[in-house]
Amino acid sequence: GTPNQHPARPPRVLSIAGTDPSGGAGIQADLKSIAALGGYGMAAITSLVAQNTHGIRSIHTPPVSFLREQLDAVSDDIHIDAVKIGMLGTVEVTAVVGDWLAAARPPIVVLDPVMVATSGDRLLAPGAEDALRTLLPESTLVTPNLPELAVLAGEERAESWANALNQARRVSAHYGVTVLAKGGHLVGDHCPDALVDERGFPGGDTLIEVSGPRLTTRNTHGTGCSLSSALATAQARNNDWALSLRECTAWLRDSITHADDLEVGSGNGPINH
Ligand code: PLP
Repeated sequence: GTPNQHPARPPRVLSIAGTDPSGGAGIQADLKSIAALGGYGMAAITSLVAQNTHGIRSIHTPPVSFLREQLDAVSDDIHIDAVKIGMLGTVEVTAVVGDWLAAARPPIVVLDPVMVATSGDRLLAPGAEDALRTLLPESTLVTPNLPELAVLAGEERAESWANALNQARRVSAHYGVTVLAKGGHLVGDHCPDALVDERGFPGGDTLIEVSGPRLTTRNTHGTGCSLSSALATAQARNNDWALSLRECTAWLRDSITHADDLEVGSGNGPINH
């Protein structure tokens, strides 16, 4: 490309996640999202997932020693500006990622606490939620959807935005992590997103909220994966959560708005990264 297309050194962003060979979610979505937000994308694979826009057929998890090999191969050589963590799948995988984080100490860690896909298929082994919780204090930002937020808070699923914000506040205070509360799973026209940090953002605010009307496409596969990797990339560049949230939610809205143009699959199709 021309020099204009490469104005500054892109942030180096590593996704640690599962795959989606149909290109809508997981590692594949992460790499597209990182590139769209101007980052240099890298990927260490936790699990290989045979899936498409209809759901998951099977999951193959390589030995966890091989995941550690992948992670060390990257961090032994490359300075990592931000990490996005997606599907972990098992207690063993989660422990390896926790050990690697403690050794590599990347400056930004965005944890998408992936539990169940929109299709209803489990992406986290039953009983692995406690292992996932141990990564929260090691993370900069956690990005649960409403059902995942309820699990992290140890409560019933929030039925209102006020209720979701309170759960996010409790998770933030308990684990010392910034929480992205996402309104997309609420019913109604209004579905905001908000960053919540009970320790405060610069300026003393504990809440950074962005609102928008509901979009009506049924093609939303990979939305959560994409937003978390976009936020890791934007924050590595901006060091400003309010700016990063505005930038990423605007980009995500555009990607959802143009999802139907893709004509990929006959199920819950991908967003248009
Ligand atoms: N596949 C992988 C590997 C994922 O990590 C996720 C979600 O995080 C999904 C599929 C599910 O995507 P969605 O629920 O948006 O369809």
